[in-house]
Amino acid sequence: EEERSLNFIEHIIEDDLKAGYDKKSLRFRFPPEPNGYLHIGHASSICLNFGLGLRYDSPVNLRFDDTNPAKEEKEYVEAIKADVEWLGYQWDTECYASDYFGQLYEWAVALIKQGKAYVDSQSSEEIADQKGTPTEPGTGSPYRNRDVAENLRLFEGMKNGEFKEGEHVLRAKIDMSSSNMLMRDPIMYRILHKPHHRTNTDWCIYPMYDWTHGESDYIEQVSHSLCTLEFLPHRELYDWFLDQLVDSKKLRPKQREFARRNLSHTVVSKRKLLQLVENDVVSGWDDPRMPTISGLRRRGYTPESIRNFADTIGIAKRENVVDVSLLEFHVREHLNRIAPRVMAVLNPLKLVITNFPEGTEEWLDAENNPEDAEAGSRQVPFSRELYIEKEDFREEANRKFFRLKLGGEVRLKNGYIIKAESCTKDENGNVVEVQCTYDPKSKSGSGTEESLRKVKGTLHWVSIPHAIETEIRLYDRLFSDATPDGHKDKDFMDFVNPDSFKKVKGYLEPSLKDAKIGDRFQFQRLGYFNVDSDSDSENLIFNRTVTLRDTWAK
Ligand code: ATP
Ligand code: MG
Ligand code: MG
Repeated sequence: EEERSLNFIEHIIEDDLKAGYDKKSLRFRFPPEPNGYLHIGHASSICLNFGLGLRYDSPVNLRFDDTNPAKEEKEYVEAIKADVEWLGYQWDTECYASDYFGQLYEWAVALIKQGKAYVDSQSSEEIADQKGTPTEPGTGSPYRNRDVAENLRLFEGMKNGEFKEGEHVLRAKIDMSSSNMLMRDPIMYRILHKPHHRTNTDWCIYPMYDWTHGESDYIEQVSHSLCTLEFLPHRELYDWFLDQLVDSKKLRPKQREFARRNLSHTVVSKRKLLQLVENDVVSGWDDPRMPTISGLRRRGYTPESIRNFADTIGIAKRENVVDVSLLEFHVREHLNRIAPRVMAVLNPLKLVITNFPEGTEEWLDAENNPEDAEAGSRQVPFSRELYIEKEDFREEANRKFFRLKLGGEVRLKNGYIIKAESCTKDENGNVVEVQCTYDPKSKSGSGTEESLRKVKGTLHWVSIPHAIETEIRLYDRLFSDATPDGHKDKDFMDFVNPDSFKKVKGYLEPSLKDAKIGDRFQFQRLGYFNVDSDSDSENLIFNRTVTLRDTWAK
């Protein structure tokens, strides 16, 4: 395979290697906060970090950024691990920021002793009011010059649970006139009397992201800490915190930023996805309409298709919205290569083959996948009563209609050429049955002159007495707008598409009776489908992953 050109993060690493970095010291991490399920945006970050690990043969840690007990749960930790593994990546070490709470506390005490951190006893409003503006310096807190002994005593009291939430915070003492607002004495710790999913009630003070992230990178000796662009202004603070403890013998992590990936017609934010779950807009985090990894998996996406999508869009320095049709292109492209072809009818119309003997059947050979020579073939039953799609028949139609019309011929896929002779209608004038004749010499693949005769249309079909009746779930975009969270005057929830989910009955060829949850198929002429996890041994349920072509009007 042809080598693609390096992305800008790889250029940074190549430059570091040229400047004398030891390749063995390269180490990366993927640092999710376990406050929700991973989404397609995270897939970009996962593919970037784990991709670098593969490229440089370097370890990649899975680090849970679990510093906010109010929003984090074990369920999310487990789901995140399952999703990263399903995408095909293996982390070196499973790490938790919460494992560093003790070390972080000791380092905070050391900063207090050096006069570089202090306990502030004001409300968050007072602290915010004193921050100043980007063009005006802030005013220092009245507690800024508290003496070290009192700071140490209060900080220990915070840790020991002597105070209520909001009574005190620990702040770094940096620069109240910095042009970077984040450097104006940022908060390092707050009091939260909440149990943590791992440390339980050991702690009632929790470190802030900025104080935790760089130090966690340092503890794990991560060489390149890659994050999204909103952290660019945090880099100065990341560096300041590292400056306070760097030991020259150890590697100093570097933060570098890349653009967040957005996908059209959806939202990629755990907070907003949680809102969809909590408001029952969807059935859960893994609802097949969700842009979560687990939703895409349940929908029938393959890990390869998601990795190929992430590779194709690459990484960027500026934010943009990637059209969801590109993601769909990648799953189609992969499923075309791997998915066995089968026949299913979703909107049935009955055909009777009047010259086929009653009470008999014939088993026809059907190729499983023309794209895969190894896929082999199966048998499908042909009989006197068949279903085709309603849309595939018209009593009368012009020359451009290559499907079945009265007096016209079509080929039944893997079977015979048939001719529509007459039809029966109900009292409302709807066609309910079409009487046809078949040409017994025209069987596909039989090599006869009749079998080679060209007819314009080929239709998929199923034999009615052999058909398996199933539930088919059809999905449309979850949002009717391309950028539901990009409107100033409207909430993203206003753009939820009320018709994004439809259940229909499907009639399937009998070879599908042994299909297992997760199995993927091409229903010929209809799209790619997979067996949903709601299925049981009695009832199969299929999800439409994607249609065969991009038919969606933009
Ligand atoms: P969310 O708003 O969905 O919670 P987040 O950035 O807060 O996103 P984290 O769990 O902190 O979520 O993300 C883990 C890693 O994935 C971070 O390095 C983050 O920058 C990256 N990431 C998150 N969302 C995207 C995205 N849309 N595109 C690329 N990378 C992302
Ligand atoms: Mg985060
Ligand atoms: Mg977040």
